Amino acid sequence: MNGQWTGKELETFEVTNPATSECIASVPNGGALEAEQATDAAYEAFKTWSAYTAYERSEIIWKWHKLIDENKEELAKMMTMEQGKPLNEALGEISYANGFVAWYAEEGKRIYGETIPASVKNKRLFVQKQPVGVVAAITPWNFPAAMITRKIAPALAAGCTVVVKPAEQTPLTALKLAQLAEQAGFPNGVINVVTGDAQAIGQSWLEDKRVRKLTFTGSTEVGKLLMRGAADTVKKVSLELGGHAPVIVMEDADLEKAVNGVIASKFRNAGQTCVCSNRIYVHESIEQAFTSKLVEQTQQLRVGNGLEDGVDLGPLIDTAAISKVALQIEDAVNKGAKVQTGGKLIENLYFEPTVLTNVEDNMKCMMEETFGPVAPVTTFKTEEEAITRANDSDYGLAAYVFTENITRGIRITEVLEYGIIGLNDGLPSVPQSPFGGFKQSGLGREGGHHGIEEFLEVKYISLGL
Ligand code: ADP
Repeated sequence: MNGQWTGKELETFEVTNPATSECIASVPNGGALEAEQATDAAYEAFKTWSAYTAYERSEIIWKWHKLIDENKEELAKMMTMEQGKPLNEALGEISYANGFVAWYAEEGKRIYGETIPASVKNKRLFVQKQPVGVVAAITPWNFPAAMITRKIAPALAAGCTVVVKPAEQTPLTALKLAQLAEQAGFPNGVINVVTGDAQAIGQSWLEDKRVRKLTFTGSTEVGKLLMRGAADTVKKVSLELGGHAPVIVMEDADLEKAVNGVIASKFRNAGQTCVCSNRIYVHESIEQAFTSKLVEQTQQLRVGNGLEDGVDLGPLIDTAAISKVALQIEDAVNKGAKVQTGGKLIENLYFEPTVLTNVEDNMKCMMEETFGPVAPVTTFKTEEEAITRANDSDYGLAAYVFTENITRGIRITEVLEYGIIGLNDGLPSVPQSPFGGFKQSGLGREGGHHGIEEFLEVKYISLGL
């Protein structure tokens, strides 16, 4: 906060390793006071940081990028220990997270204005873009690095200063990123991280008029709460909320591509991403072939401590996550689903990767976000039926379509009510493209040139000659 490592006098809370349940660190349990102090610092720093040229800001952001890259092994190990994902995936996340830093270090130089033709001879009309001001970022535990850089790299490049509250489960990666930012030479107060009481910190930022923008990734429930809270001070809001991604596998799909895509999108991070496939619609004519391949590959996945070699799935984040997964499986089985593989808790927070068939639309797993390693498979007869069922959701984040007929593929993508579509692709997310949802999956976009607009105000200037 303001370039200082504060909070030593505060009470602390423990960070535990979900693979071992051991406490790995204690961090300060900040609250409303610390949130306000962070805002004070960010508000002061905005005056100078916003006046830097985009090129000056870019230079510091690039230094941060270099330091993140040099420290990627340490960051990845820390992430695996606090979050559970396999080390290779953690390394992949650091590189993805750093991709946003690189991309926005450059994109900040391309915040262009406009001139508009006037309708009278004695006027000239201009448009400028300016940073919105202090940005509050509240982030989840499933991507402890990428959810921070995807938000703050564009904010910083645009000239905003930030106050960040990482998830209570994963503050260490966030603090390490902040330490590297300090080394990179960001002026004091430009980046401030507050760990602690989510509600108290969130409330302070919601009520504070100086915080001009709130960017949040997390549950739809908390997102709605924050959106309501932001209304009193009419803050700009970006929300990346829950998802319930459908996968449509047409009869003309390349089965290998489809199964690989489902495995990648379903079991990455042990199923704990908001773009994980959650409902798999397979054309009835290929159900057998598809399911047997999916089951075979699912059975090859190794579950274990993410620090060990060859592990594909780590533990789930906590016991609530385990209960939710177990409950969804129980509900599906009670309503007639068949467990083709998996279905059970292994021990502690480790759950077997699971494939369910004979799944019906009235089962919980077809309506509620699973956030765990369960792949429910159902069949359809026609393209129209698949589209209708895929769109029948309050969520609209990611959807996947597998077909080798690209004309048909494009036709389907055009009517799917989702913000991100993987057409023969299980991993569509990249720094240069817009990420975000339709419907109750959120507001705004992160990534790409779209992502920086969220941190800019448009100023129109009419000049009378
Ligand atoms: P998840 O279910 O993935 O943990 P949450 O929406 O509960 O998702 O959490 C995402 C982020 O929002 C975390 O940083 C969490 O601490 C924070 N959070 C949770 N509740 C609130 C709240 N009432 N106000 C502000 N932040 C909150």
